[in-house]
Amino acid sequence: MNSKAVLDQLTDIVTPEQINTNEADLYEASADRYKKYAKTRKALDVPAPVAIVYPASVQEVSALLKFCNRERINVIPRAGMTATEGGLENWKDTTLVIDTLKLDKILKIDPYNSQATVQAGVPLQVLEDELRKIGYTTGHSPQSKPVAKFGGLVATRSIGQFSTLYGGIEDMVVGLECVFPDGYVSRIKNVSRRAGGPDIRHVVIGNEGALCYITEVTVKIFKYFPENNKFYGYLVKDVESGLKVLREVMVNGFRPSVARVYSEEDAAQHFYHFHDGKCVLLFMAEGPKGIADATGDAIEEAVRTHQDGILSQVDSQLISDWFDNLNWSQQDIDDEFEEMRTSDSHAGYTTEISADWETIPAIYTSVMARVKAEFGRVEDLTMLGGHSSHSYLNGTNMYFVYNYKIHCAPEDELLVYHHPIQKIIVEETLKHGGSMCHHHGIGKFRSEWTKDEHGTAFYMLEKLKEAFDPNGIMNHGTIFPTDEIRKYIYQEE
Ligand SMILES: Cc1cc2nc3c(=O)[nH]c(=O)nc-3n(C[C@H](O)[C@H](O)[C@H](O)COP(=O)(O)OP(=O)(O)OC[C@H]3O[C@@H](n4cnc5c(N)ncnc54)[C@H](O)[C@@H]3O)c2cc1C
Repeated sequence: MNSKAVLDQLTDIVTPEQINTNEADLYEASADRYKKYAKTRKALDVPAPVAIVYPASVQEVSALLKFCNRERINVIPRAGMTATEGGLENWKDTTLVIDTLKLDKILKIDPYNSQATVQAGVPLQVLEDELRKIGYTTGHSPQSKPVAKFGGLVATRSIGQFSTLYGGIEDMVVGLECVFPDGYVSRIKNVSRRAGGPDIRHVVIGNEGALCYITEVTVKIFKYFPENNKFYGYLVKDVESGLKVLREVMVNGFRPSVARVYSEEDAAQHFYHFHDGKCVLLFMAEGPKGIADATGDAIEEAVRTHQDGILSQVDSQLISDWFDNLNWSQQDIDDEFEEMRTSDSHAGYTTEISADWETIPAIYTSVMARVKAEFGRVEDLTMLGGHSSHSYLNGTNMYFVYNYKIHCAPEDELLVYHHPIQKIIVEETLKHGGSMCHHHGIGKFRSEWTKDEHGTAFYMLEKLKEAFDPNGIMNHGTIFPTDEIRKYIYQEE
């Protein structure tokens, strides 16, 4: 079906005001932050979608998906547009972006049962602000909180800065509503726990728009006790010393809301006023007073246990102030784009992985060594480091961060710079038995390794795709590897 016919038929489903064909908006919709440099330089190599559509009800989402399924039109679900891994990038000639803009209602805040229900287009910050008025919090605080919306947060399996206490989004989602490509609407009911077969929430959480469209989400909400917050900061000898303290706190059964260690290079970016060229270890404890105090005591005890790795303690106010300024607003995102229009450099590319306590230091060390030895443009790197920011009883994550000067055409940047570094990180992680993506999702640019990530369990993922999206209309190229990888990643004809 050609673009004109698609647009004609769309008006049978939604009003003309719900269909956006503005050229600048379609260009914006053709890729996400993965290609932010090429995007700002107007050098994107992917097709633009035919239109962005704004359904206002689950019935309209259902009708749109049915239409796309029948006509084999690729669908990219879209929410807050903060995706970082190509989940919003378009690799098909005929694509509709279905945006959650008009699914913007908070449906219920229910403090007695500690849950809130929202439509998929509600920004996290909006629900958080409402909850704070009554002394509650979502407990979810990704850096993208001011911009990201519930549909995207659930679809990417996102995680927030206070995850060590509250968990990732998968620990918060109670129930949800979603629509499959054939238009079928499924509602997963809100209960505290059940043993009714496999937990089907997990078919939806993390599907990245490649299986279904999320229209409504119910999440847990938590009582908020900011008056009890406690902050701790230390300079430490090396990353491994910091990891030992993080582990000690976790395996002793404590749950600080924040537990992080930064490499020297990464600490220099964040804590320029006190890092002193060293690694930084920091914690935040929160909750009811007794719990926050006990957690704080446990942190101090763990620091004493591993004092051979601790160089000095940092004023806790510095850590508290740092947290107050961590989130990114839409203005920050726009400013970054604006800066890239004129500067030939890239700051803050990341690849986040996870593994058990024993393995994380080994991955960190081998990635650092391999990038320095093998990356062809190592002289252009202006920073290479990382931090661990989400810890569990049995392990933690590592968020590799790299900045570089760009000496190539904008359309070649990813292949010349980002991809070779990411490839080393993914290869080393998989070789050591870790997971190649801790919280940003696979998107399109890690899909070449999806099979290696899952091994024999890829069978289950593949069957889900075949069962729910047999015509392959949902976010083509996302999670599941496709031939376009050769064209859009390796630039082969
Ligand atoms: C500055 C910044 C900071 C970030 N910090 C964090 C962080 O701390 N933690 C973290 O986990 N991530 C972080 N991210 C990554 C990103 O914000 C998260 O992945 C977020 O969850 C995406 O939500 P969104 O609403 O922006 O979704 P979008 O970017 O619009 O979409 C993301 C993906 O979800 C799919 N999708 C969107 N809506 C739906 C829907 N209704 N149904 C089905 N699929 C859908 C899209 O197709 C796409 O694949 C950050 C990103 C930025 C730019």
